[in-house]
This record gives sequence, structure tokens and C-alpha cells, in this order.
Amino acid sequence: MAVKKFRELDEALVRQKEAAFAEFIQKKGLKTTRQRNTIISTFFRMRGHISVEELLNQVKAVNPRIGYATVYRTLHLLVDSGLVEERRFGDGLARYEGHSSVEHHDHMICLECGEIFEFFNPRLEALQESLAEENDFQIFRHRLELYGECKDKEGCRYRKSRVKAAAGEE
Ligand SMILES: [Zn+2]
Ligand SMILES: [Zn+2]
Repeated sequence: MAVKKFRELDEALVRQKEAAFAEFIQKKGLKTTRQRNTIISTFFRMRGHISVEELLNQVKAVNPRIGYATVYRTLHLLVDSGLVEERRFGDGLARYEGHSSVEHHDHMICLECGEIFEFFNPRLEALQESLAEENDFQIFRHRLELYGECKDKEGCRYRKSRVKAAAGEE
């Protein structure tokens, strides 16, 4: 089965999100800060499932004075705003990703190498809708996570060794 990379960086969508976040900040009565702006614009231009550390690394490349606590707090504001979703897969590490109707997708997680594959299947989406219909239920959102192992053993081993190397275990 092909898992396609369907999320290309969309500048218009990024700007839309930045504007939505600015509005959220204003409604909360918070001040706009330059550091926070740097963090959110960096985040919205990253792809995938991003940990606090990964975002911090990117942000530090733009402004080395930005610290962990600011990144952490900003991510939580993003989650509160509904523009970002916090996800925890098998390893329990909090990861963040953009969250909007155009970006909806579900996940397959390899328990061996930790790779997170994204998929979107219109038939599956429709099936969930009809299941809800049959049960007199209205779905607001859903989260589907399939846990298993890569069938591509070579790729899986390679990814696993990279993860270990990055964690300094080998
Ligand atoms: Zn995802
Ligand atoms: Zn794997």
C-alpha cells in the first residue's frame, strides 16, 4: 500500500493560521511578542510530528535566545487555539502537528522503529460517517492510530539505528 506524502507546504495556509493565532492571542488579552511570532511561524513551516526539542532546535537557528520554556508555552497556546493538535504515539513523547480540516489524516505507527506513517482514505472517512449515522451519532473529530511493524525490514532496521544514534544509545 502506498502512503503518499500529501502535505506540501502551503504558504497561504500558513498565513491563514498565523492570522488565526494572532486573533486568538488578541481575544485572550495577551500581547503579541516577537519570540512567540518566531516560534509559531517556524512551527507552521515544519512538517510532520514535531517534538518540543525539534521545534526548539529550529527556533534557535533563527533566534538563539529563545528558550525551552517559551517554546513549550507557545506550543500549548497553539493547542489551546485549536490550530495544533498534541499527539502521543507508542513512545509517549508529546508531538505536535498542524490541525485543520484540510490536513486531516490518520496514522500508522511502527512499534519497532517508531516511524509514523500518515494516511488518508476517503472510503474509511465515509465509512465512519455512515457508522455514526446508523448509530444516531454526530462525529466532531476522530483519531485513528494503527500500531504494528514495517514490512520493509531493511528500512525499519535503518530507521531504528538512526533513532538510537540520535538518542546516543549507540
Ligand atoms: Zn500526522
Ligand atoms: Zn519500522
